[in-house]
Amino acid sequence: EALKKTSTEIIKKLMSFGVMATVNNDVDFDTATIIAEEYGVKTEKAVQISEEDILFDDIEEEDESKLVPRPPVVVVMGHVDHGKTSLLDAIRSTHVIDSEAGGITQHIGAYMVKAKDRRITFLDTPGHEAFTAMRARGAQVTDIAILVVAADDGVMPQTIEAINHAKAANVSIIVAINKIDKPGANPDRVKQELTEHGIVAEEWGGDAIMVPVSAKKRENIDQLLEMVLLVADMLELKANPDRQAKGTIIEAKLDKERGPVATMLVQRGTLKAGDSIIAGSAFGRIKAMTNDKGTAIKSAGPSMPVEVLGMNEVPDAGEIFYAVTDEKVAKHLVEKRKYKQKEQQYKKSAKVSLEELYNQIKEGKVKDLNLVIKADVQGSLEAVKSSLMKLSNDEVRVNVVHYAVGAITESDVTLAQVSNAIIIGFNVRPGINVTEAAKAAEVDIRLYSIIYKAIEDVQSAMNGLLEPTY
Ligand code: GDP
Repeated sequence: EALKKTSTEIIKKLMSFGVMATVNNDVDFDTATIIAEEYGVKTEKAVQISEEDILFDDIEEEDESKLVPRPPVVVVMGHVDHGKTSLLDAIRSTHVIDSEAGGITQHIGAYMVKAKDRRITFLDTPGHEAFTAMRARGAQVTDIAILVVAADDGVMPQTIEAINHAKAANVSIIVAINKIDKPGANPDRVKQELTEHGIVAEEWGGDAIMVPVSAKKRENIDQLLEMVLLVADMLELKANPDRQAKGTIIEAKLDKERGPVATMLVQRGTLKAGDSIIAGSAFGRIKAMTNDKGTAIKSAGPSMPVEVLGMNEVPDAGEIFYAVTDEKVAKHLVEKRKYKQKEQQYKKSAKVSLEELYNQIKEGKVKDLNLVIKADVQGSLEAVKSSLMKLSNDEVRVNVVHYAVGAITESDVTLAQVSNAIIIGFNVRPGINVTEAAKAAEVDIRLYSIIYKAIEDVQSAMNGLLEPTY
């Protein structure tokens, strides 16, 4: 438009410079400058980043000087019955924020506590399934995972799963060795067993922080929270409170009287009552905002969980929300976003499948072949794992993200989805729901009952020789 030329003319001019483009392509600044100069027009880099750029490309040009420390966001994971819920309760009841003592805690999916005059945010959904499901939608919410291991029971299958999920998400792990009040408690055994999974206690020369606690007797909870703060300091968690708010939907539901209700975790900027927001395909204006005690608040800064009313529909958990200038912009952006999402879905089909592996290796898209391995017995599990890992070559590294004895579960599928892994099942089958979940997530599940067949397939796939299966 500025050149006052037709697009055809510009395309021709680009071609004369060897640039093949259509009206739908972007050209880089240097190319644009050359073309513009041809017509005697001077170019200048636009400094203003449009709202859409912020939204969709998420240009994080943070002004370092505006970053201030923010509270850590913590999730509690571990095997069933090891005390996740009890620990969350113990933390909440012993560390209420002073001014709100006696206030009734609302369940909004997250809460904040105070320790050593600092704040810590806890996600109130124990277990790694919720955590990984959120991550599958692209949300990076948690900074620290507390891995709860019962001292009388030791490392169990879901403990290992939790470790692998946390590792895949690059989240720092603090171990809470729980139930130390029990007569059969043996913290050293827990430490020993964790060593086998690459988590070595500091006192044993490793770098993992382990705190013995009793959620039931509320023992050592202070110490655990101190360790959370220590790790938070090492991570140097910071955010700019002084900009347009952005964060993640923690959970959301439809309330008969109040309409869509969403719990949001602010991750940067400050969210204010009255702000217009978008989250996925939902948008709206914040009619009311409350904290985890149900108190109405006007604004919420980084790491604060809030409950918000006023969205036009129920957003998905894990969806990222943004505050925008006004509701009209919000509506417009949601339309654009729906379109963009369709496009991205299309692009996403570049997920790894064994059949496509070779092409993706050649295109340089894949350097690590990530695998989740499930088998019926420990012996074959180890055998499958070690023989597949040996297939690593100069171009591709075979990397086992998670391996365990047992059927293929939905949790395996989400883990495979977020780590772009293929699932190898040896003498195990996925349930019907699992197969559907895998299809939806475009995760490739391969089932074998003969080890060498599995090795052969992965090897052939790596060399581009895999026969397609029908
Ligand atoms: P979750 O499944 O991991 O959430 O575990 P829960 O918090 O529901 O706890 C499972 C059981 O262990 C419950 O009966 C708790 O009372 C018990 N429990 C949890 N923490 C402790 C503890 O520190 N000491 C003892 N003795 N029991 C505990």
